[in-house]
Amino acid sequence: MKDFQFCRQCLYSSDHPLGITFDETGLCSGCIVHEEKDKLDWEHRWNLLVDLVKDYKGKNKKNYDCIVPVSGSQDSYYIMHIVTEKLGLNPLVVAYNKYFNTRIGIHNLSNLRIKFNCDILFQNVNPFLVKKITRQSLIDFGSIYWPILAGHTAFPVQTAVRFKIPLIIWGAHQGMEQVGMFSHEHEVEMTRRYRKDHDLMGIEADDLVQVSNFLNEEDIWQYRYPDSFDIESIGIRGIYLGNYLRWDPKAQHEKMIKLYNYRSTKFNRTFDTYDYVDCYNYMNLHDLIKLYKHGFSKVTDHASREIRFKRLSRLAAINLVKNYELNPVEHLNLFQTWLGIKDKSLDFILNQFRNKKYWDFNDDQDKWLFSGLSTKMLHNESQNDSNTHISFTSTDDFSLKKQDKYITFGKGWY
Ligand SMILES: [Zn+2]
Repeated sequence: MKDFQFCRQCLYSSDHPLGITFDETGLCSGCIVHEEKDKLDWEHRWNLLVDLVKDYKGKNKKNYDCIVPVSGSQDSYYIMHIVTEKLGLNPLVVAYNKYFNTRIGIHNLSNLRIKFNCDILFQNVNPFLVKKITRQSLIDFGSIYWPILAGHTAFPVQTAVRFKIPLIIWGAHQGMEQVGMFSHEHEVEMTRRYRKDHDLMGIEADDLVQVSNFLNEEDIWQYRYPDSFDIESIGIRGIYLGNYLRWDPKAQHEKMIKLYNYRSTKFNRTFDTYDYVDCYNYMNLHDLIKLYKHGFSKVTDHASREIRFKRLSRLAAINLVKNYELNPVEHLNLFQTWLGIKDKSLDFILNQFRNKKYWDFNDDQDKWLFSGLSTKMLHNESQNDSNTHISFTSTDDFSLKKQDKYITFGKGWY
């Protein structure tokens, strides 16, 4: 029996942390569900969404029809475009402050507020506390992003409870987009279970307190998902637009740049210029940790997505992955200053999380050698190699200026 397998089309393997399956031809579940994008009747699916939201219009006395979680990047503009312009809803926009904010992220968020003219609620958890939790999650399970993921997924639901707004609208479902965990037609919705198992790596806020010597209950309550009783009595549900629209992040971002002046930038570790431009660390330190733990990094996600959209050949995608994934991490000094951690301590912690399946320590050379997924990727000669070039627009220069640092709170500027 084969215990390890690559998809015959995209670059994912049976080692994908979200779980993946293969059909008898060797096509992965992610690619199979992606094919639905070209088969489903999207007009019909759009009408299902229009019908669904009809029930929520004007339901809340404060005149908010729904909640839309946003950030200064990702799919925020597109979600807002659909919710306000296409569905005619009046959302309460909510944003969890991740504190690793870039100038572009601050611009994008303030510009979003102005262009869509909506009320926006920010959650600024005490920055000292955030550092404390980040230090803990870094040491315990090698994550600098746990508080951000926990905050971004808890705050909208807490707000839904507080304002009694039963509908939350998200963009795409990551488990569906990457590994085809569900079909579009399942119309999967937000759950406490998925959040814990996949967004939060199986660690809830309360688990963090149990393993920690430094954190108490009062430190983590902002990261708690609301009680099931509250959620059920208000009838809160979170839907994903990706179930009702043919989701294409590249095309969507390019449209948002034209329509609303969304800003994008080049990164050192991937070719996609649209994702996570609001954060100094996501495409850098966070991405390096992904490579340490899982043997692949974000560039493999981007390349696999572009193969599926037939904008990139498999060979060109493999080359892109190899060109980017071992590139240096930028802005690490900012993170070390922010957390108060020295090179050696950080290296020591990070090395604990290198998966020995993908990393070998070479005593002679006194360094770690990468034996991750891209070193095993094979190219089938018979496959079509016409799409070798892919173009992503970058509107800004993300390179570190001397005076640049994390913007804890930013109002935006023009
Ligand atoms: Zn695949």
